[in-house]
Amino acid sequence: MPLISGKTQLLAVIGDPVSHSLSPAMHNAAIAELGVNYCYVPLPIKERDLETALRGLAAINVRGFNVTIPHKQTIIPLLSRLEAEAKLVGAANTIWQTDAGWAGTNTDVFGFMAPLSSLSRDWTNVKPVILGYGGAARAVVVGCSQLGCTEVAVAGRNLAKAQAFARSWEDSALIAQVKPYDWETLADLMPETGLLVNTTPVGMTSHSAETPVSEEVLARLPQSAIAYDLIYTPRPTKFLKLAAAQGAITIDGLEMLIQQGAAALKIWLQREVPVETMRRALLSHFARS
Ligand code: NAP
Repeated sequence: MPLISGKTQLLAVIGDPVSHSLSPAMHNAAIAELGVNYCYVPLPIKERDLETALRGLAAINVRGFNVTIPHKQTIIPLLSRLEAEAKLVGAANTIWQTDAGWAGTNTDVFGFMAPLSSLSRDWTNVKPVILGYGGAARAVVVGCSQLGCTEVAVAGRNLAKAQAFARSWEDSALIAQVKPYDWETLADLMPETGLLVNTTPVGMTSHSAETPVSEEVLARLPQSAIAYDLIYTPRPTKFLKLAAAQGAITIDGLEMLIQQGAAALKIWLQREVPVETMRRALLSHFARS
């Protein structure tokens, strides 16, 4: 990393907690590779302090920052400008300084889409099924719509929550239609599914023997389908192993994590960024932990 000097500019991630964040490793590796005089630091900020913190970050001339739990939604009314993705998702994860104040966007949408964009598909004919209806699912819905999908099925263990999630898009500018389903209907949805996305935490490292969808249900997934798990530890998850055994194309959450970070750094630095260096930084972090 270049030496900190009087000219060093600050980038940050704010949240509570932030000690687990992989962003400092990823961004500082890219900053070092580029040889630019920036430093990316984690800043733990309590919910009650967000507004004060934003004024402070502006006062000390922080160039931009990432936002994580619990501030992704509550930061929105405090911003001067909000990009379309963040408006649709209802959450911002990347903020930068403008003359008028802080501007925000949501790079999770781009991060989610990045590994899909390189696949040859007529997305207007692809029916995505999204497992879960939490924060990440919102970015996935917007990503599917931006790819060109016209209808998105959202399935969850609580039908009322899935229905509320679907209703939340009714007056939005989203092009795709969002339809709610409960877990029991998944088997019937599978034969028509072109993209199956797990946005639940089921299958993460501490529960790696679990899968959100059983082997029997996955057996009904067409061979040309894409199975996408937002989880990045373990790699692959049981869900992706089972889907690969069915012949599906599989994508894990690592590329989304890298690409959302690269998109943020590109906004802050206004230049191309070394994505491969960011990927290597994350992989070596995982290899050590
Ligand atoms: P969240 O807002 O808490 O949403 C979690 C969703 O999973 C909810 O719909 C929840 O449903 C459902 N769920 C939880 N446990 C379940 C279970 N046992 N069975 C069925 N459904 C269950 O979390 P999030 O922020 O969306 O994150 C979700 C996952 O995506 C996490 O694993 C996170 O690490 C990953 N993620 C990855 C990236 C990336 O860059 N790769 C980015 C963002 C998130 P209920 O409300 O019914 O509990």
